[in-house]
Amino acid sequence: MVVTPGEHIAIAEEFMPGVGAYERDGEVFAAVVGEPKFDQIEREVRIDSPRKIPRRNVVGSIVYGRIVQVYDKYAVVELFPYNTRRFRLVPPSRLSTIRIANIRRGFVKTVRDEFGVGDWIRAKILKIQKRFYVDLSTEGSRFGVIKAYCPKCRRPLVRRGAALYCPRCKLTVKRKIAEDYGNPVLPR
Ligand SMILES: [Zn+2]
Repeated sequence: MVVTPGEHIAIAEEFMPGVGAYERDGEVFAAVVGEPKFDQIEREVRIDSPRKIPRRNVVGSIVYGRIVQVYDKYAVVELFPYNTRRFRLVPPSRLSTIRIANIRRGFVKTVRDEFGVGDWIRAKILKIQKRFYVDLSTEGSRFGVIKAYCPKCRRPLVRRGAALYCPRCKLTVKRKIAEDYGNPVLPR
């Protein structure tokens, strides 16, 4: 059972709040996201924070990165580690590539129509060659750009249909957008 902060977990007469819990008016509530553990001997309930287990990326892992270069046939992505509730994910290398065929289904004329330098993306590891050279894919609605900035004024772009738009410069840019663009959610 996973509880979220503010959720009622016990009454103080039965269990005192330990780490990750607090008491208010005789009731015990969760202070963090996690699984409450009831210590029957100490009569205490606590919610341990997730242990950060470093996990190596494998094929199929979700990664987050920033586009650093865009060419007609591929883009170069700088990868970053991230924390989930269960683990910390560390990419196998700092740089990776997305090739034109792995951006989305259907015909892509040039990668320049799909990504721009500075875009933040969520992608999936497609291939790791020689334990170091990483190929990514953004095929599927979960993957693609999660945050992007106007190439002229650097303000965040807003979603407009299948494209992105800068309300200030009245500029529309084409992108391969993830479904949660603008408000991305980390995998658990
Ligand atoms: Zn702008």
